[in-house]
Amino acid sequence: MKVWVDQDICTGDGLCEEQCPSMFHLEDGLSFVHAPGLQPTYRGGAGDLAEIPDHLFDAVLEAAEDCPGECIFIEN
Ligand code: SF4
Repeated sequence: MKVWVDQDICTGDGLCEEQCPSMFHLEDGLSFVHAPGLQPTYRGGAGDLAEIPDHLFDAVLEAAEDCPGECIFIEN
């Protein structure tokens, strides 16, 4: 499974980074997925897609469910 953040609707509250700092990283008030070898970049809506390590899946799912902007997307 993979995860990405739509920065166009991110509120920048930082909840995702608090819940799962291994996968989410706030930069200039926007959340980016943060994974080894993946540089946070802004792509105007469709953010970077990062593979979710198995041991982080529950934390990423929880972050997505709690995200006030509803902008964390998990997909195959
Ligand atoms: S929890 Fe959602 S809205 Fe808040 S910073 Fe993270 S991605 Fe953005």
